[in-house]
Amino acid sequence: MSTPDHGSPEHPDGVVQLCSDLIRIDTSPAGNGERAAAEFVAAELSGMGLEPELFEHLPRRSSVVARLGGTDPARPALLVQMHLDVVAADAAAWSVPPFSGEVDDGQVWGRGAVDMKDMVAMVITALRLKLASGWRPTRDIVVALLADEEMGGREGAGWLVEAHPDLFEGCREAIGEAGGFSHELGDGRRAYFVQIAEKGITWLRLAAHGQGGHGSLIHAGNPIAKLAEAVLRVQRYVPPHRASESTQAAVAAARGWTGEQDPDSAFDAVGPVGRLLRPTLRNTFSITRLAAGVQHNVVPFRAEASIDGRFVPGYETELLAEIRQLVGDLVDVEVVHAGRAVQTSFDGATPDAIRAAIEKEDPGATVVPTCLPIGTDGKHFDRLGIRNFGFVPLLLPAGYDFASMFHGVDERVPVSSLAAGVRILQSFFDEC
Ligand SMILES: [Zn+2]
Repeated sequence: MSTPDHGSPEHPDGVVQLCSDLIRIDTSPAGNGERAAAEFVAAELSGMGLEPELFEHLPRRSSVVARLGGTDPARPALLVQMHLDVVAADAAAWSVPPFSGEVDDGQVWGRGAVDMKDMVAMVITALRLKLASGWRPTRDIVVALLADEEMGGREGAGWLVEAHPDLFEGCREAIGEAGGFSHELGDGRRAYFVQIAEKGITWLRLAAHGQGGHGSLIHAGNPIAKLAEAVLRVQRYVPPHRASESTQAAVAAARGWTGEQDPDSAFDAVGPVGRLLRPTLRNTFSITRLAAGVQHNVVPFRAEASIDGRFVPGYETELLAEIRQLVGDLVDVEVVHAGRAVQTSFDGATPDAIRAAIEKEDPGATVVPTCLPIGTDGKHFDRLGIRNFGFVPLLLPAGYDFASMFHGVDERVPVSSLAAGVRILQSFFDEC
């Protein structure tokens, strides 16, 4: 990238400044800034006439909830849920300091730019503009800004759902992560992928055992070698297709756009966004960590690997059967964390408002409901019977590699996308 421009970048309706300010509050685990971010957004909401409340299960792990009263008490409330935390960023790999919030080259740079301080900035800006015009929503809108999503949400959404379910009283539908982003179809039209399902999580530990001992002796049952064989089997394994309701519309759309009939080939041919869609076709296993050995001349008695397993809604049992069959008796398989899958259908007041808002901003656009592989706080709110729609509206430039931005180096969001997102959310709040 070019040298960061500290001049006077465009700040459409303040959303760029707000996004940049939020990125500068380091809410990664090392930054410990969730309370500062919560106090910052609470002040913004207070300034708009809302009455936000801060909640902490653990010290400094803050969430904020505010309810905007609607004019029609007969209508169910809408939840707008976002997380304030971000994942770590290794500054050595970045073009800009990851918590600088630089605005340069028409983009806002920094950790959280798309995951998901963009949405926090867009929602606050859209609601501020609507309220300033004298608007009131017909249904109650509950705005929740949450801690700990990236680590599973147990200190944020998970705890609030258990300890303070009253905050979400009357909510039947939610918007939040992930989805809502556009994809250029090549003929000038765009598709917007809205998340209606998320894959479930099964984090596994593979453990190999042996006698261990002196490195000068012969060790037929070396646990490192057994573990290595097991993880190679995992890496080479291609799991079978697992069809789910939530992927049907995206598969059909991709076939139509590309002419490819095989679902994997069709998603591949769609473009970079295919990286987000392909994992929804099957259970997946990513090897994420290895641990073994203490000293150069000691064969260890144990070796471990971490596997991030993700299952298609309805196929959790199959995931465990797949991995056990794969590794046989080379290693023990242990589940260390489980997160439910969720799935809903794309019908009702909120999907109607999503379609209308996108159509108004981008006439002729197609809305494609889909499953996404990324876990979200939607799974916690699902326990209260709240249907989650992943809708973080971003009109992205053609060819933009959105999938690589999530947890990636040089995470950034185009200013034009934020501006369009604010307009789409304003229309959405009008319609919802
Ligand atoms: Zn996120």
